[in-house]
Amino acid sequence: MDVKFFDFAGETAAIGAEITRAVSRVINSGHFVLGPELERLEGAFAALCGCKYAAGVASGTDALFLALKAMGIGPGHEVITVANTFAATALAIIYTGATPVFVDIEPDSHLIDPQRIREALTERTRAIIPVHLYGRCADMDAIMEIAAEKDLYVLEDACQAHGAHYKGRPAGSLGHAAAFSFYPTKNLGAYGDAGIITTNDKELHEKIGLLRNYGQRDRYTYDLAGYNSRLDEIQAAVLNVKLPLLESWIAARRRKAQIYDRGLPGISAITDKFAAGSDHTYYLYVITVPQRDALRDHLAQKGIGTLIHYPVPLDRQPAFKNSRVAGSLANTYGRTGMILSLPMHPWLKEAEVEYVCEAVRDFYA
Ligand SMILES: *Cc1c(COP(=O)(O)O)cnc(C)c1O
Repeated sequence: MDVKFFDFAGETAAIGAEITRAVSRVINSGHFVLGPELERLEGAFAALCGCKYAAGVASGTDALFLALKAMGIGPGHEVITVANTFAATALAIIYTGATPVFVDIEPDSHLIDPQRIREALTERTRAIIPVHLYGRCADMDAIMEIAAEKDLYVLEDACQAHGAHYKGRPAGSLGHAAAFSFYPTKNLGAYGDAGIITTNDKELHEKIGLLRNYGQRDRYTYDLAGYNSRLDEIQAAVLNVKLPLLESWIAARRRKAQIYDRGLPGISAITDKFAAGSDHTYYLYVITVPQRDALRDHLAQKGIGTLIHYPVPLDRQPAFKNSRVAGSLANTYGRTGMILSLPMHPWLKEAEVEYVCEAVRDFYA
């Protein structure tokens, strides 16, 4: 059996024809940038997140960057985040001229530890970026409490958490703003690059609207030195077909996760920390295991694709040599060698999940 880590074939079979019609509609309209498809997507995505506003941009990375810019983050400022995340979280901070400050995670959830945020604060701290890693939300109540006390912005990196909830409230509505990615493999993915920023702050939203479109107020009036970072109509049309299906796709991911849970007794999987009203959307199904690399080789031999999210903490990457590490990253480093992401997507077959479980059990038997 061949079990790919991710596979689009099922999606194409299910909605390919509808996507083709939606893309043709845009082509025939001749309206390719900042048009009705984007407006519709922004309205629907804001509703999904229980937010007043959503602004489509060119990628998740740009969503993080433009939100930070709109918050006034720049040179001399520090932004606190984690080292066990995708590089873009910290790249966006670097782009503004501010310094990424890496703090440790909680050992059980692998999410940012609010107590470590407190210990990392300086008079230069301006913002916190909690990453809702793997599809579950960070401890936002504790984080918002620190932010309120110290007058800091909180930007959710929700690039892996479309449709997730924290104590009954949707990801994207928990901080001052949130950045989502529509990279193709995300729980909601475009057929190319795209991203979106949600917020309830009118002023932030308006500033992001300028920043993504050259800083242009009216044609030939430039209030800000902005950027070209729009979510184009073809991608918006694809996303408009897919958004109504997100919930059922997350439910499909949860069903696979349950089969993994049952089929891997004694193996610890990273689940949800906050039981009531909080949920895991399983962008990734991650286990923490001894002899991780040997297990990975064993699974590869059985035709099973796995990945590691993420193999090298960002503070150890040359690109982030000018970042700051606050306190010990013992939990981050301790977990990096143990994590393994198993195949996970809505189209994965039950028999494939069982096959993966059997291969893992074989290895440890
Ligand atoms: C995917 C991702 C991003 C970047 O999104 P792009 O759309 O690829 O630019 C940022 N942060 C996290 C945690 C991600 O998973």
